[in-house]
Amino acid sequence: MRFSKLLIPTVKEVPSDAQLPSHIYLLRGGFIQNAGGSGLYNFLPLGKRVLDKVRRVVKEELDRVGCQEVSLAFVTPASLWQESGRYEKYGKELLRFKDRKENEFVLGPTHEEMMVNLVRQSVKSYKQLPQHLYQINWKFRDEVRPRYGLMRGREFLMQDGYSFHVDETDMKREFALMEETYKRIFRRLGLDFRVVEADSGAIGGSGSKEFMVLAESGEDTLVVCKSCDYGANIEAAKRAAPAYTPKPLSQEGKVATPGTTSIEAVARFFDVDATQTLKIVAKEAHFEGGKSEIVLFALRGDDALQEVKACNAVGADDLSDASEAQLEALGLPAGYLGPVGLSDEVKICFDEALRGATAMVCGANEAGYHIAGYAVPEDITFVDIAEVREGDRCVHCGAELTHTKGIEVGHIFQLGTRYSEPLKCEFLDENGKAKPMVMGTYGIGVSRLLAAIIEQHHDDKGCIWTKESAPFTLEIILGDAKNERAKEVAESLYEVIGDRIEVLYDDRAKERFGAKMKDFELMGIPFALIVGKGVNDGKVELVERANGERHYLEIGDDLAETAEALLATIADLQSKRG
Ligand code: ATP
Ligand code: MG
Repeated sequence: MRFSKLLIPTVKEVPSDAQLPSHIYLLRGGFIQNAGGSGLYNFLPLGKRVLDKVRRVVKEELDRVGCQEVSLAFVTPASLWQESGRYEKYGKELLRFKDRKENEFVLGPTHEEMMVNLVRQSVKSYKQLPQHLYQINWKFRDEVRPRYGLMRGREFLMQDGYSFHVDETDMKREFALMEETYKRIFRRLGLDFRVVEADSGAIGGSGSKEFMVLAESGEDTLVVCKSCDYGANIEAAKRAAPAYTPKPLSQEGKVATPGTTSIEAVARFFDVDATQTLKIVAKEAHFEGGKSEIVLFALRGDDALQEVKACNAVGADDLSDASEAQLEALGLPAGYLGPVGLSDEVKICFDEALRGATAMVCGANEAGYHIAGYAVPEDITFVDIAEVREGDRCVHCGAELTHTKGIEVGHIFQLGTRYSEPLKCEFLDENGKAKPMVMGTYGIGVSRLLAAIIEQHHDDKGCIWTKESAPFTLEIILGDAKNERAKEVAESLYEVIGDRIEVLYDDRAKERFGAKMKDFELMGIPFALIVGKGVNDGKVELVERANGERHYLEIGDDLAETAEALLATIADLQSKRG
């Protein structure tokens, strides 16, 4: 394609609302444009090419393992969401609206209900199972904080797949196949990523994995083992029980500790390590249907509460801080909360790390007092609600755990019968008995991938697209349009190789060479062929965007030969760079 005929509005200025390299370069490089509302983007010709490239990789790999692409209606009847019970639960991210006849609809933020509805109408027998249907379509989520360009949009392109099975075993087989397939997709896109255990909400277990592109700018914190391949989202991370070596206490029982309301102050007062203290984090837990209640979370003094784990432990949708007034109403003094002498109305959860702890210091539930020598009861249920810290030990190999940042680009989930039961998506088994189908669900953030690729592949000049994501493989840059010989060579080479690889030909007559090079660097096309002054000495220059390396090629009388040599050099460099 000729640059002169394409709409590629590159700009020098850094857009004021953009902070991340991907956001800055996708705007500056003329890939995307803000559509006028936050989290809404138009894809310009270059951006659309990249999006299609990424989409194609996703589709090819899914089709290869037998997934079937469909396209579901984007506008979803609210009745389906009422059937699954998610209509109320989903909150404000779900855009609800009515048509002229007052029928209620939602804009699909995800399509479990729609796909289950499709399958329940067309699949009746075990003989038709398994099925794996997917689509690559736009989703809308009215995100609280849309930001970072394509990273967290309100409208975004998602690949969402749903598989249907006769039993758990078959669903797990497909889940494992999808893990491998997603890995192939992200590898083909040239990404450095990690598969981690994810929060599965109420379902629990190892039923959910996320694919995280490793990048400083990632919004997710990952816990990874320094030695084995264990990795988990911090929301789901496990650790080996932390060591507990209490010191003998100089005082025991109820001790007056006026003004000692922080863990540091308590530890100092009793001359113990924070590990020997017990702290209470008081939260108001909010449940489906609008109910809420105060819950006390008991943790070791050196630990912090992990809110997603805490929500799962009590089955809440989310948590907020309990106010002093709310605590007072329950007879609880802020700053001196403890696990002792609580009335039956007050719910308390103990973290795993407290199991077997004796000789602890904790609040006495009386203002100005602590208890020294508290032993955590043995006959209670412990739950994992603490945030795994750097330096904690791996539950698999005992090595040290660290934190790193990641961008979630994919999520696979063992769903079971969460949707097939309420929506009555059933099949008849071999004995003619009706059973709910067992489901898996799989999603990739296709438009987010564009941002993730650039977060990992850029420099201070612009984008560096990977082989399979690049909008073009080669850009032919005509150095000086007034140089007749250069123009003849550039035009001929473009004609000859334009059918063989994807070429952008910067034929602009009015731009200077320097400006053309800057655009090339900003757009991040993997190779540039500079047809400049050198042609008069029979030479052209091939530049690699990723490392700036230059390779000189001879041009003979037969330009077809030069073209072959150029294609061979590019293929060779591509295979070397991987
Ligand atoms: P996140 O935790 O980032 O909000 P999620 O858990 O809500 O994501 P899923 O429901 O698992 O996301 O959606 C599947 C994939 O869609 C995600 O892995 C992510 O790559 C992508 N995605 C989700 N929300 C957005 C968004 N607002 N903008 C762009 N991509 C998104
Ligand atoms: Mg997710």
